[in-house]
Amino acid sequence: MNRQGFSIAALLLASLLFLQFNASASDQLSVYISVDMEGVAGVVASDQVRAGGQDYQLARQWTTSEANAAIQGALDAGATEVVVNDSHGGMRNIIASDLHPEARLITGSPKPLSMMEGLDESFDAVIFIGYHTKAGSFDGVLDHTYSSASVFSLKVNGTEMGEAEVNSLIAGYFGVPVVMVAGDKNFCEQAREMIGDHLVTAAVKEGIGRTAANTLVPVRAAELIREKTTEALNGLGNAQVRHPESPAVFEVTFLYSAQAEAAELIPDVKRTGPRSVEFTRDDFIEAFKLFRAVLLVARN
Ligand SMILES: [Zn+2]
Repeated sequence: MNRQGFSIAALLLASLLFLQFNASASDQLSVYISVDMEGVAGVVASDQVRAGGQDYQLARQWTTSEANAAIQGALDAGATEVVVNDSHGGMRNIIASDLHPEARLITGSPKPLSMMEGLDESFDAVIFIGYHTKAGSFDGVLDHTYSSASVFSLKVNGTEMGEAEVNSLIAGYFGVPVVMVAGDKNFCEQAREMIGDHLVTAAVKEGIGRTAANTLVPVRAAELIREKTTEALNGLGNAQVRHPESPAVFEVTFLYSAQAEAAELIPDVKRTGPRSVEFTRDDFIEAFKLFRAVLLVARN
């Protein structure tokens, strides 16, 4: 091959590689879905979300139906991989045999990253289904922050946060944006305030206090979730990643002083008040894991 021929061949090869790279980059869409239960349409009472409670089996079906709607919405938007993480209580709520066959299911507990187990840098978008307001909210169905038996409030770097906010920072740690959330109306507003204006929301019910709601029926909730999931993923280009600050300072205020007494037994956990403790870690995931250990110790 002469010199000119070689340059032309090299140019062709480079263009081919460029096209190939771009095609493969845009062909992949990995979606991660974390599924809680308190925010699912039809759910208003704690026994509906407690294994063995009245109507728990029904609420599991509604939860699985909302997860399926999000999976289908993701597939409609071109998702090539969908991972669903069961994120409520003992994390065995989603009925595996009824889940959309295109998805993988992460089930059971404990899991190191809890409600965000299985997420890493390879994903493109995160979705929260069945989520709820933080502890101490107006008209938030079953509002709480990780544990209604022990946590009065959680602050991260001075800002009060609920589960959606903390989990959005875990997503940000891996460089992945949260693009859609479903839950009650007030939860959707809280999440949007914290996560950003790009967030698409599906309000499947409106709280009337903590244990009552005006709710869509499951079939309608599923339609809304499917549609909003597709909309959110189609607008993925506008989504902002929420990176956690370093160092991460967690301040937990418990319901009872005995819980803070137990928590401060852990090294590096400082007592900051009768019912509160604080700890700091440079790495957000390390801080989050320490937070989980603090909750476990406080619960006993
Ligand atoms: Zn839950």
